[in-house]
Amino acid sequence: MENLASLIRDIPDFPEPGIVFKDITPVLADSDALARLIDGLASPYIEAEVGKVAGIEARGFTLASPVAGRLGAGFIPVRKPGKLPHETIREEYSLEYGTDALEVHVDAVRPGERVLLVDDVIATGGTASAAIRLLRGIGAEVVGFSVFIELAFLRGRELLNGVPLHALVRYD
Ligand code: AMP
Repeated sequence: MENLASLIRDIPDFPEPGIVFKDITPVLADSDALARLIDGLASPYIEAEVGKVAGIEARGFTLASPVAGRLGAGFIPVRKPGKLPHETIREEYSLEYGTDALEVHVDAVRPGERVLLVDDVIATGGTASAAIRLLRGIGAEVVGFSVFIELAFLRGRELLNGVPLHALVRYD
């Protein structure tokens, strides 16, 4: 994953002073890197009988849809409030910068369906933790959280309530 890591661009003080934003757009723009990224996120779950891959708005969508394709699974959007048209449930969470909420359609999974969660970055873990609560709230079995970048010094993996984390690039 060294080549992928070398394409991640650090943007200091974005979107707020003190935050070093991990910009993955150079990875997404490189056809070989993008293919290796999707492969790296999906490959541990090839035999995991995943029925749906859930992506967190918005960068998570970019990664979760092709991962779903690789796994022969469907895709579920986990979105910011007010974006999903059908009946939803909501979870509040705190970000590395600010607070927000996420929603998912109540009928997005079958009871007990095996779901893989995908996002670009885990920082404090608040976002992923809220997504896991949402998915469990609609009856999913969350089999893993596959993420490109783990900001390990923020210890987000401790908030994942027993869901195993698979991270391709880790910053200690
Ligand atoms: P958290 O809830 O703190 O784990 O934050 C994770 C979410 O916020 C992910 O959806 C990321 O896209 C975004 N995020 C948080 N911190 C960063 C960062 N330093 N660089 C890029 N994205 C970040």
